[in-house]
Amino acid sequence: MKTAVIGFPRIGTLRELKFASEKYFRGEIDVAELKHIAKNLRKIHWKLQKDTGIDYITSNDFSHYDIVLDTAVLLGIVPARYKELNLSETDTYFAMARGYQGTSGDVKALAMKKWFNTNYHYIVPEVEDDTVIRISGDKLWDEYNEAKECGIETKSVVTGPYTMLKLCRYTGSKGISDFVDDIVNAYKELIRKCEQQKIEWLQFDEPALVMDLDSKDINLFHKIYDELLECKNDSKILLQTYFGDVRDIYSDLINMSFDGIGLDFVEGKETLKLVEKYGFPQEKILFAGLVNGKNIWRNDYGKTLKVLDLLKSKNVNVVLSTSCSLLHVPYTLEHEKKLSKEYLKYFAFAGEKLTELHEISELADNDNYEKAVAFIANRELFEEKRDCENSDVKLRVKAISESDYTRLPKRSERQKLQKEVLNLPEFPTTTIGSFPQTKDVKANRSAYRKGEITKEQYIEFNKKKIAECVAWQEEIGLDVLVHGEYERNDMVEYFGESLGGFVFTEKAWVQSYGTRCVKPPIIWGDVYRKNPITVDWSVYAQSLTDKIMKGMLTGPVTILNWSFPREDITIKESISQIALAIRDEVLDLEANGIRMIQIDEAALREKLPLRKSDWYTQYLDFAIPAFRLTHSGVKPETQIHTHMCYSEFTDIISAIDDMDADVITFEASRSDLQILDSLRENHFETEVGPGVYDIHSPRVPSVKEIVNALNIMLTKIEKEKLWVNPDCGLKTRGVPETEASLRNMVEAAREIRKSEG
Ligand code: GLN
Ligand code: ZN
Repeated sequence: MKTAVIGFPRIGTLRELKFASEKYFRGEIDVAELKHIAKNLRKIHWKLQKDTGIDYITSNDFSHYDIVLDTAVLLGIVPARYKELNLSETDTYFAMARGYQGTSGDVKALAMKKWFNTNYHYIVPEVEDDTVIRISGDKLWDEYNEAKECGIETKSVVTGPYTMLKLCRYTGSKGISDFVDDIVNAYKELIRKCEQQKIEWLQFDEPALVMDLDSKDINLFHKIYDELLECKNDSKILLQTYFGDVRDIYSDLINMSFDGIGLDFVEGKETLKLVEKYGFPQEKILFAGLVNGKNIWRNDYGKTLKVLDLLKSKNVNVVLSTSCSLLHVPYTLEHEKKLSKEYLKYFAFAGEKLTELHEISELADNDNYEKAVAFIANRELFEEKRDCENSDVKLRVKAISESDYTRLPKRSERQKLQKEVLNLPEFPTTTIGSFPQTKDVKANRSAYRKGEITKEQYIEFNKKKIAECVAWQEEIGLDVLVHGEYERNDMVEYFGESLGGFVFTEKAWVQSYGTRCVKPPIIWGDVYRKNPITVDWSVYAQSLTDKIMKGMLTGPVTILNWSFPREDITIKESISQIALAIRDEVLDLEANGIRMIQIDEAALREKLPLRKSDWYTQYLDFAIPAFRLTHSGVKPETQIHTHMCYSEFTDIISAIDDMDADVITFEASRSDLQILDSLRENHFETEVGPGVYDIHSPRVPSVKEIVNALNIMLTKIEKEKLWVNPDCGLKTRGVPETEASLRNMVEAAREIRKSEG
């Protein structure tokens, strides 16, 4: 049996690409050096796959920022405002990804959205009315040939035309249907060029097929692919799907002339049923995604081989593959020096998953695999009882009652009371929590971690930073202050470290967007709070000011969604455990004089099932109550905030209101302000702070720009309910731009108070 990988992480084992790109952004290396480093990484990644025995290795899965943006550039989908900067090819690309502010002009970045149900973000391409979609780049072929030069035949991957059309934003009067012909022609050209270069396999990634599809979608898919498949000759086409099953279009797909179809057997709950019900044609190859590309637990060979046996019994021509790109798991266990083998033996990161693919494929060819060493070792691992249970936690979860999910009195009464006691000006200004994580802040944390400084020294330094941060905010004139989160590397890892039940890695980075990587903790066992986590920092920060200090926590849904979850208990059970732990912290903060507490749910939307019919029953029906459980015990006058890093919640707006927070801040400056209309239409009760500027880019917004944004917001939101804040935390920003931006923001709020007062 042959093996395939849908895509491989590209950031490098030790985040080499991140550091090189950041050097390039700072002007410390030139483009040639950046490209050289990138090329070297690609080579290492291909070779590793080759050496592990992978048969179908992918090229063009590399990206300097994002693969959807790469595809947009390949197709010539570059908005005029970026072309007009007249920058080099590379810098135009980065201008779209990150925004540009310099001698050539001042443009914001394109919007960024979460890639389906992952924490990876893609850049949303913008199609303008006069955009001409046609092949305008060479990356696909360059990287194919580069691999070939290393002696490796690869399958070239590209985001498929259907998913592309679905993900683009159409900024003019035209829509998808106006661009179908152009995109089909462009992909025809793409196939032609691949055939010219004698590329054997071309992989079209079409994850959009796992969404709910209606007849219009299916027609669109046919319209595109019937024509494309017509024109192919020598190159083979693999239609690759992932993040779910393709139940709405499976029977169509198997009757089309794809040479291979990639299906997800991990997240695709119905995949196996579909194959059993409709069969799978013998002349095609089924790329069976059985090794989980999203989670880090070892594969259960017994289970996987059962599926493979079943497929074989139906004479299906199978290539064993990953369920999705390995982009979503860390690179390798090799650098994990601190975790004991007792833990490590249960995990498989990208590199180890290659080995699993290879081992399983060999077992699959072995009629007596039960006797094989690899099989027996794997079975023993799954039979062993993992040390992960805590009976107190289990009892506490069982004892949760309906009333624990309800905060009293009702929100409108609380809001009135809070207005009186908190005594804030109209349009209160605040930030989302973190302040720039400057070199000294990171150095302090890392020195403490390495044992180079004492705990006292570590705390002393952070206290100094907090004091500076508080003074800084007072000087800028913000109304609600934060302590700056200097003690945190990452909003989830930080809490995980203080909770029982989590396991931590040292180098297990996963790309989140561009050069940003996260290191998700692993939920190993039952979760509980060992000790107060944030109380000392918040109490200290509050002692320095008469203004209100916002306590800062991460919510249960986000902690769960940004960790690698357990596979042996339900998500609902895990989330309830975490919610109880955060509830303990909320109540402790309140008891220690903190009057405003923000519970971030940056990742709430992330695990929303891709199919609407599953939204409530499979997720929201337990995720939203879990959030309420964290704060239902506080006094009416304690104000609860939440924050989300996106504004796409028009469709779940009632669920968001149901979290029963008093205030919500969210991202709004990088996407359109459509959300504001739906807040009004849905009589949204929670007070709102739609971000007035984008913190993902170093660009400084002008006062005028912010005033304009606020004026637009005021046409849709009652002025009593509007807060003024940036999009998200400031930790990734530098000090100068943060200072300039916040000053402009405070000034803008003052102007609005004058004009609206
Ligand atoms: N409070 C966090 C911060 O400011 C929120 C981060 C986030 O939403 N991603 O950094
Ligand atoms: Zn955020």
